[in-house]
Amino acid sequence: PYEVLIVGGGPAGASAAIYAARKGIRTGLVAERFGGQVMDTVGIENFISVPYTEGPKLVASLEQHVKEYDIDVITEQSAAKLTSNGLIEIELASGATLRSKSVILATGARWREMNVPGEQEYRGKGVAYCPHCDGPLFKGKRVAVIGGGNSGIEAAIDLAGIVEHVTVLEFSDTLRADEVLQRKARSLPNVNIIMNAATTEVRGDGSKVVGLTYTDRKTGESHQVDVAGIFVQIGLIPNTDWLKDSEVKLTRFGEIEIDARGATSVPGVFAAGDVTTVPFKQITISMGAGATASLAAFDHLIRTSAG
Ligand code: FAD
Repeated sequence: PYEVLIVGGGPAGASAAIYAARKGIRTGLVAERFGGQVMDTVGIENFISVPYTEGPKLVASLEQHVKEYDIDVITEQSAAKLTSNGLIEIELASGATLRSKSVILATGARWREMNVPGEQEYRGKGVAYCPHCDGPLFKGKRVAVIGGGNSGIEAAIDLAGIVEHVTVLEFSDTLRADEVLQRKARSLPNVNIIMNAATTEVRGDGSKVVGLTYTDRKTGESHQVDVAGIFVQIGLIPNTDWLKDSEVKLTRFGEIEIDARGATSVPGVFAAGDVTTVPFKQITISMGAGATASLAAFDHLIRTSAG
């Protein structure tokens, strides 16, 4: 068996693997796709100490760093089941089973998409999912935020300080965001909130976003809003479907509950990155979390292994 087996090959998983291998213990990493969400990212300006990089470039350096160590990397395999009886077993969709004394879950998350025409075509060309990442790219421009929950209203308040104007489009007739956030957003002169708005299309000029079209769900009328950026804030879905029948405790949103050391409810099982209850989801945060989980797993091993 492995001493540490990491499930997931994004920034959290790669960082956990390097930290584990540097302890000289038998380390494995299994992932559907090495690099995770970073592979889908165009420009990255907040990976501290690197003023600008691009997703695939950062993933190539991650891969190179992982390759410096004796890590058993298995890609294009998905974990389907976790069981624990002393050793932890990860059953893969292919039917194979990997065994380890400790496991670090780093399967990440994915942004919920609007599924409207133009969204995919203009992803990274005006359609964005992360205000902390892409907000400054729209300095002085008009943007829209889709979604009136906490993340949407937080995004609107955040963006209002950077961009010229923010239009929030909420599908239902009420905002789900906390009252204090709603009050703050409504107090800002450059934020406008539209209710009952079903976004139907992202409009572009062939190379970048120029606006969006929405239907007023009360009147059925179609309207256009001219914006350079569209921040989609309708949910982040943790990749934990495969853990639903396991003993790993998840929140009602499906996030893995962890403590300050990355420990889950199952002894020997740790977790890191976007898949967990960590409050902010960023590359630099995921890497730190991967290191934390890895050091905690090592600490667990030296306390529980005889030899
Ligand atoms: P992920 O990157 O999601 O990696 C998850 C890994 O788990 C992948 O290898 C995946 O294949 C694997 N996996 C999932 N399920 C299974 C399974 N069942 N079995 C095996 N493997 C599995 N953050 C920034 O800091 N700056 C930015 O500029 C930035 N821009 C972004 C732009 C976009 C478009 C997106 C989508 C995200 C952006 N982020 C940015 C967020 C950042 O990418 C994430 O916070 C970070 O990638 C999370 O790392 P992670 O390792 O926790 O998970």
